[in-house]
Amino acid sequence: MTTPTTQQIDAQHAAIAERFLADPATPAFLRHLANNPRITLRRPGLPDPKARCIVYWMQRSQRARDNHALDLAIHIANELVLPVLVYFAAISNFPHANLRHYAFLQQGLPDIAADCAARNLTFILRRAPETDSAAWTGDHAAFFAEVHAAMVIADENPMRATEQWRRHLADTLTIPFWTVDNDVIVPSRILEKAQFSAGVARPRLYRALPEFLVPYENPHATHAFKIPRSLHRESPDNDITRNWTDFDRTCKPVEAWHGGHQAALKRLHHFTANMLHTYDRDRNHPECDGTSALSPYLHFGHIGPLTIALAVNAAAEKDPHLKPARDSYFNELIAWRELAVNFVRYQPDYDNPNCADNWARATLAEHDHDQRETLYKLPQLENAQTHDDLWNAAQLQMLHHGWMHNYLRMYWAKKIIEWTPNVRIAQRVAIYLNDRYFLDGRDPNGYAGIAWAMLGKFDRAWFDRPIFGKRRYMSAASTGKKFNSKRYIHQMNQLPKVPADRP
Ligand SMILES: Cc1cc2nc3c(=O)[nH]c(=O)nc-3n(C[C@H](O)[C@H](O)[C@H](O)COP(=O)(O)OP(=O)(O)OC[C@H]3O[C@@H](n4cnc5c(N)ncnc54)[C@H](O)[C@@H]3O)c2cc1C
Repeated sequence: MTTPTTQQIDAQHAAIAERFLADPATPAFLRHLANNPRITLRRPGLPDPKARCIVYWMQRSQRARDNHALDLAIHIANELVLPVLVYFAAISNFPHANLRHYAFLQQGLPDIAADCAARNLTFILRRAPETDSAAWTGDHAAFFAEVHAAMVIADENPMRATEQWRRHLADTLTIPFWTVDNDVIVPSRILEKAQFSAGVARPRLYRALPEFLVPYENPHATHAFKIPRSLHRESPDNDITRNWTDFDRTCKPVEAWHGGHQAALKRLHHFTANMLHTYDRDRNHPECDGTSALSPYLHFGHIGPLTIALAVNAAAEKDPHLKPARDSYFNELIAWRELAVNFVRYQPDYDNPNCADNWARATLAEHDHDQRETLYKLPQLENAQTHDDLWNAAQLQMLHHGWMHNYLRMYWAKKIIEWTPNVRIAQRVAIYLNDRYFLDGRDPNGYAGIAWAMLGKFDRAWFDRPIFGKRRYMSAASTGKKFNSKRYIHQMNQLPKVPADRP
């Protein structure tokens, strides 16, 4: 049996929604809510009137404000005179996750608990495997049954494994299950298929902005949940990773970052108030703190892109001098970021060279096995032990800061092509390092960025040259001249070192 494409799955979901909307048994309020391009009806049906709550299963959007999926759950619950449970389950074997990521994630949990309390919602935090209590096995469906959920609302995550979880749940649940495309401004299925370039996607995305660049409602839940004594829930203050024996603790947290919705808002306000006016000038200067540095928060859903876009837009409306900076910022936050989501959503080969376009395949066929002057092994790359000071500095930023400036990410990935035997290995190395060390790793942006740098994705053919063929080349000399690279190298060598603890 062949795996259906995302477009075929989109068509199946559209057919489910059409039948649901046409069914005279569908209550008007559900019909009204379901008729929204941000929402996917994975499993139709009507909420059981005898059930006890509506569950919002929070996965990617780790925030209890400015969250369309949560707003939807509250609207439905208020109509049905039911409470809302916000359910978040931490698991020890989340793909490529390690202690660095989970420390940041954990810092966001108290904000979720506080915002849930303020909105009359019950936050249920669980962890699996639950080694010090037999309370929970990690089975979501069992949890929904335990709390007698009438319906489950979830956010969406286009990455392969997380999308599979949702599909699996839709097949196993017997109650309605809807998901909400929460972490993009323009619902990603509006683009309908894989987009060829930012130039193609940008006008389509921008045309849709008037409809979607609108503030969240953040309604209040009218009915509180009476928590049974027997219902197990973790305190957000406890270490959610405790006693996990199969969990990767070798990649240590980075002190310079603090996760959570409040920290994200603080950075956003600082950015719009003090940095936006120089964004256009400084964004390609890795030696300056010139960009929003919101990517880790976006990755964990501690803030949504809509909140950021609205704040940036409001600043530009207040001060028209900021409009060029807003446009430049929107190009990254909306055009490039949502192109990356589109890439992962519609391109099943997003993590291997088969996603390359025809011109890039042709040039790879010609040059991928060209002789390399220098080859490095993974530990040499990982430990920043190459002959290239600029590259090593970028790698130190990754190791010890958990983040890297965009300009250096491009250079970093390009050089790996030169220093590994072929592009398949190069891409594997880049994905491994990217996902292991970056707080914003394991994200569509990473897969799209690596495909851009290594496979010419979303780029065009340049002049033919050894090893790179027609893929865009970046040399140390020209890259280092575009900003104060000496200063950057010095800064990165001064970073407080995160202890090395290799797997
Ligand atoms: C090889 C490579 C690997 C990358 N890996 C990741 C990754 O793992 N995770 C990640 O979030 N980004 C990744 N990027 C994209 C980009 O480098 C980061 O999003 C950006 O540097 C984050 O910094 P910022 O928040 O200060 O960006 P800002 O300049 O302030 O931009 C605001 C937001 O726009 C989005 N954005 C900015 N640049 C890009 C871009 N080129 N592509 C897509 N979205 C963009 C991000 O969400 C970012 O937070 C990668 C790029 C390359 C070339």
